Amino acid sequence: MKFYSTETEILEVPYLDSCVCNKCGDTYTKNKIKDVTSVNAKFVDYGTMYENQIWNFDMCANCLVEIIKTFKYIPTGFMEDYTEASYIKDKQKVFDNWKVTGEWEPYLGYEYEELIGLFDGWYHTAEFINELIEKYYPDKERL
Ligand SMILES: [Zn+2]
Repeated sequence: MKFYSTETEILEVPYLDSCVCNKCGDTYTKNKIKDVTSVNAKFVDYGTMYENQIWNFDMCANCLVEIIKTFKYIPTGFMEDYTEASYIKDKQKVFDNWKVTGEWEPYLGYEYEELIGLFDGWYHTAEFINELIEKYYPDKERL
């Protein structure tokens, strides 16, 4: 739920004053408003229980993440805003592991040789690769 200020900024557009998470009821203001997102659900097919309904609600990231943890399948776009996302071999496997451990491990499932092959000296530094080897293959040789 969004609450707009009665004061207006330039062009007389009211600015967002606060946002309340529809699930937990916490109020977010100022810099914390960005931790709340709007969720839309549209039921456009005829003959459904919710025919032609469009639901909109605001939810804080904490509540949304808790709900996503109950999903069987990874949502499209989830955790794809950083470079490591392009190295994930099996998104569903990383997602399933995250639901249990809380750790997002993009290199989960890499064979030892594949980790060695990632070394490029600038993004995948020796230190970075060695940390992955230590985590997944602690008795194997480091770079
Ligand atoms: Zn919440």
